Amino acid sequence: MIRRSERLNNVSYDLCGPLYERAKEIEALGHQVTKLNIGNPAPFGFDAPDEVIDQLIRNIRLAQGYSDHKGLLSAREAVKRHYLAKGVDHIHTDDIFLGNGVSDLIMSAVQGLLNEGDEVLVPAPDYPLWTASVRFAGGKAVHYLCDEESEWFPDLADIRSKITSRTKAIVIINPNNPTGAVYSKELLQELLQLAEEHELVVFSDEIYDKILYDDAAFFSTATISDSVLCVTFGGLSKNYLAAGFRAGWMLVSGAKHEAAAYIEGLNTMASLRVCPNVPAQHVIEVALEGQQEIYDLILPAGRLGQQRAICYEKLTSIPGITCVKPKGAFYMFPKLDVKKFNIIDDQQFAMDLLMESRVLLVPGSGFNYPQHDHFRVVYLPEPVELSHTMDRLANFLEHYQQH
Ligand code: PLP
Repeated sequence: MIRRSERLNNVSYDLCGPLYERAKEIEALGHQVTKLNIGNPAPFGFDAPDEVIDQLIRNIRLAQGYSDHKGLLSAREAVKRHYLAKGVDHIHTDDIFLGNGVSDLIMSAVQGLLNEGDEVLVPAPDYPLWTASVRFAGGKAVHYLCDEESEWFPDLADIRSKITSRTKAIVIINPNNPTGAVYSKELLQELLQLAEEHELVVFSDEIYDKILYDDAAFFSTATISDSVLCVTFGGLSKNYLAAGFRAGWMLVSGAKHEAAAYIEGLNTMASLRVCPNVPAQHVIEVALEGQQEIYDLILPAGRLGQQRAICYEKLTSIPGITCVKPKGAFYMFPKLDVKKFNIIDDQQFAMDLLMESRVLLVPGSGFNYPQHDHFRVVYLPEPVELSHTMDRLANFLEHYQQH
């Protein structure tokens, strides 16, 4: 018997878990499944900006060799300019690491920090890679509640009550996946105050920082305080609709004088991986400094703006569903009336929906949400398809009772 490593116990990623496998089996039988399990814009007809594609093609010959283990200097300088423009102070190109998407960098940043049994405060609901990477690194993911009644903002009292002598870091996902919340400056100030008091590293996942609706204002965590060590994550997957390029970055800022050994560890982690995917590094500068096509998409009349409106309206007109309107990203995290539908197990709900209506959604428990009464919708399908998909959900729920 070849067994898997025990480090993989309790490590899961339900976005591509058993429900997804079942959806693929159904497709293999010749049926069509609307797969809303993952925030991957390209299959829904979104294209990266033309100049990004051109740059990739033009540079492909230059991208045959390894780059520096932290990434191409020109790309890291572009990332530096990007954060300087946002108002982050004292940035050095040496504090910027490129990676194969944010996912890759999350794994490195967490593994480079934790010892066995160390705790990390992770939001509930979370983007589940965060919980998985903490567990894989031998740490304990301690989930703090985000409060649906308060626009899904983190519950500060809950966070405070969960800090122990083993707590090493806190994860902030803003704009948030799966809730779509965008945090206020005041909230970030309070979170950083807590981090400073308890000497926590702040991991700020800001991969959706340009996908904002209505009057939502985004503040990068690193601009809020210099007194904590802040590791900020960003990339091309969402803002530039180029998830398959696997291009991301992380910036270490703030109390770097207290973190020389950790930063050295990050350097070691990066060098062990030789270097990130080089073709994609060549487009980072053009992406960050070129035409920001995403800004048109998020307008009320833009494609994402329209889809958000349709999805919200359709969802909230289904009896037994309520939903906080998202301010950012491209997800909604609606609540089911568990009494009305007799829901005990949200995985079962998602499986029943898949089998009957051929719609693949990820239930709230896949995002480490403790109550089994939510699910996430990815509103990337174009308006007509999205509208039909929401109708299929409504028809399903019209008679649904869990057994
Ligand atoms: N962080 C969050 C909050 C995400 O939603 C995602 C992808 O959905 C990622 C990180 C991973 O991004 P990447 O494609 O850069 O690995």
